[in-house]
Amino acid sequence: MRGVIFDRDGTLIKYKPYLHKAEDVELINGVRECLEELIENDILIFLHTNQSGVGRGYFTLDDVEKVNNEMLLQIGLDNLQFQEVCIATDLDESENSLRKPSPKFARYLMDKYNIPCQNLFMVGDNISDIQTAISANCFSIWFSSEWSIKSEDSNISYSKLNCVDNYKDLTNIILGHRGN
Ligand SMILES: [Mg+2]
Repeated sequence: MRGVIFDRDGTLIKYKPYLHKAEDVELINGVRECLEELIENDILIFLHTNQSGVGRGYFTLDDVEKVNNEMLLQIGLDNLQFQEVCIATDLDESENSLRKPSPKFARYLMDKYNIPCQNLFMVGDNISDIQTAISANCFSIWFSSEWSIKSEDSNISYSKLNCVDNYKDLTNIILGHRGN
């Protein structure tokens, strides 16, 4: 079994700070075609999004779900199903937090769906997405966009990352990868 965990903001839809209104959702080019191909190839897709705006009281979980639904509507694939969706609303990383860079959600998926770590991809535009993949020992793909936030984390060598800036390349990396 293979699977891909997608970040939402800045990866599937254009990044806007504390985005919480359905009318502000703008899909990134190529998302629909990529997801369609992954599904056709029996690759499970998952969504993991940090939404600390809920914890901060800026907006509600209901707002997050409305944005998610608008995103699905724009993707417009009848057979599209994120197998699991994790909305991490916490502000900080406690032991039980699912907030990235916690690898808890990734580990849960590997266990539940019987996905070996080398067959699980984490795609995101933020340093916390990469850190999550490193902690979970899965395959990370940096989606580089104008919003991407790099940090000076010395443990991360950007030159060694699988880095893409479009969905065609992303699809090719995932479909061409044979973890085992
Ligand atoms: Mg992001």
